[in-house]
Amino acid sequence: MEKVIIIRYAEIHLKGKNRGYFERMFVANMEKSLRGIRHEIRRRSGRYLVENFEDGQTENIVKKLSKVFGVHSLSVGFKVPSDMDEIFLAAQLVCDGSGSFKVETHRADKKFYLTSPQISAEIGGRLLGKNKRLSVNVHEPDFVINVDVREDGTALVFNKFIRCADGMPVGTAGRGLLLLSGGIDSPVAGHMIAKRGMKIDCLHFHSYPYTNMQARQKVMDLAKVLSEYNCGIKVSVISVKHIQEEIHKNCNGAYMVTLLRRFMMRLAERLALKDGDQCIITGESLGQVASQTIEGMTSSNSVIERLPVLRPLCGFDKNEIIERSRNIGAYDISIRPYEDCCTVFLPDYPIIKPKLEDVLAEEAKLDVRSLLDEAFSTLEVSEF
Ligand code: ATP
Ligand code: MG
Repeated sequence: MEKVIIIRYAEIHLKGKNRGYFERMFVANMEKSLRGIRHEIRRRSGRYLVENFEDGQTENIVKKLSKVFGVHSLSVGFKVPSDMDEIFLAAQLVCDGSGSFKVETHRADKKFYLTSPQISAEIGGRLLGKNKRLSVNVHEPDFVINVDVREDGTALVFNKFIRCADGMPVGTAGRGLLLLSGGIDSPVAGHMIAKRGMKIDCLHFHSYPYTNMQARQKVMDLAKVLSEYNCGIKVSVISVKHIQEEIHKNCNGAYMVTLLRRFMMRLAERLALKDGDQCIITGESLGQVASQTIEGMTSSNSVIERLPVLRPLCGFDKNEIIERSRNIGAYDISIRPYEDCCTVFLPDYPIIKPKLEDVLAEEAKLDVRSLLDEAFSTLEVSEF
């Protein structure tokens, strides 16, 4: 008898003529997430099995695989020869000590000498005979014992289905550059797009020494959370300190955030084109704050020349974003207090619905090109 982890994938994404490509990417991503842990992943009739791992690593493997996009569900169980005594031994191991249960059998091996209902009845009967605290309830059982008799002469026996990340294998839908702040929204936006199969790179703007090193560490910690879903992550960091100082010195203070956003977008597009990212992703949500009105978005979007900007949170309420943030394990990091560069030189009354012509008039007071070149030269890159 061998302990195994059964991996079911979101089948719909693995069909069609690209199936081979999706599968290779999917397996490569699972292998990456289990790097350093002894194991073997084998394809077995419509699913994958993790075999040959240390018992003590079971939970760790489940935790890591549950974050790989494309994994629909996992079960921990046993692989045994297709023999009723062996199946019964395994069923005892996955059976809770008490409560109501039922046995559900799936029989791919149509030559096996018992039918599915016969297997369920026999295993259920034997379990009842061994343990007086068990009872059978086929309609609303406390737990289910699953028996999968397969065509290769083995059977899988397991109880729970652990729901996982779903989505598409990361890397199958290109590459995008996420504007990662230290807030709640942008990590959620990155997670949503990675879930659709896009590999995410990150760009963070800081304003050191106006913003401190803890703020930067916070962003790195958020990137590490995302890296578990994204099969590793690259974080680029650019200083916008000088840009902010120049805006502060030369322009109407009410336009600070509006103008800064346009610089951020230009720098993001430049980096994305250099690194082969095919789009820019932000955590903007319509009307959430002053700079995220449609007028604000029009102003920042209009400097982008070639790439699409994806704003996956545009239609979400803050509560929904917070719930997602908690689910992906980012929330506790995102709520650490910090100064974002957008809060430096923040005006008392920012322009809420900036008119593009006014923004352009303010921006004309700056040497945009040389400020961009200077900021881009501060680029630093880390990888996790
Ligand atoms: P978040 O919670 O993601 O910080 P927010 O609600 O605070 O978002 P804004 O500060 O207006 O909203 O930022 C909108 C988006 O702009 C962010 O989601 C992020 O994608 C990008 N952004 C803001 N500040 C930075 C930064 N310092 N570095 C990189 N991207 C940023
Ligand atoms: Mg923010």
